[in-house]
Amino acid sequence: MCLDVGETLIDETRVWMCWAEILEITPFTFMAAMGAVLARGGDFRDVFAFLGRPEWEQLRPDVATRYGGFQESDLYPDVKPALDALRGAGYRLAIVANQPPERTEELRFLGVRADVMAMSGELGVHKPAPQFFVAALQLMGDPAPGSVAYVGDRLDNDIGPAAAAGMRPIWIRRGPWAVITTEVPPSGTLVIDSLDELVERLNEAWS
Ligand SMILES: [Mg+2]
Repeated sequence: MCLDVGETLIDETRVWMCWAEILEITPFTFMAAMGAVLARGGDFRDVFAFLGRPEWEQLRPDVATRYGGFQESDLYPDVKPALDALRGAGYRLAIVANQPPERTEELRFLGVRADVMAMSGELGVHKPAPQFFVAALQLMGDPAPGSVAYVGDRLDNDIGPAAAAGMRPIWIRRGPWAVITTEVPPSGTLVIDSLDELVERLNEAWS
């Protein structure tokens, strides 16, 4: 079982609140702008052009300082119980996602345990590139792709490319990318609304 991080394990609200604060606009306005951009099929980077803030890249260090990395309160509350339940059911766990390299240690520090953990910033390849999923399988010791489920919140970054890689796609519908989409997942995708539900419906991922 391979899991994404943002909006799968981690509620990213706080990092976007930090962006709103650094940009000196209200969180309500920033989040609404993000929603408008996502609804148009844009990438999160497009929100800065939408807001007329092309200099945003220069603000990254300020945001990183204010954010301070993942905290316990950023973890969705179902994460640790679900990972324990999956481990108890005999699954090997991998956490491989689009994140800066330091997030691996931050997750470990928060007590998130997995057999394999690596971020795109360490791998040098990121989703939705097919090579990302090849790299993830290699880290897991090259199991048959069909024996691995990939759990993620984004159809474009997680579910589509994981299915194309031959993995079992599990779409967790939380976070803005899962809510603001008119796309439908590929057939055979298990659709869940929480990791608790994943544990309850695990057998369906393989049927
Ligand atoms: Mg995500």
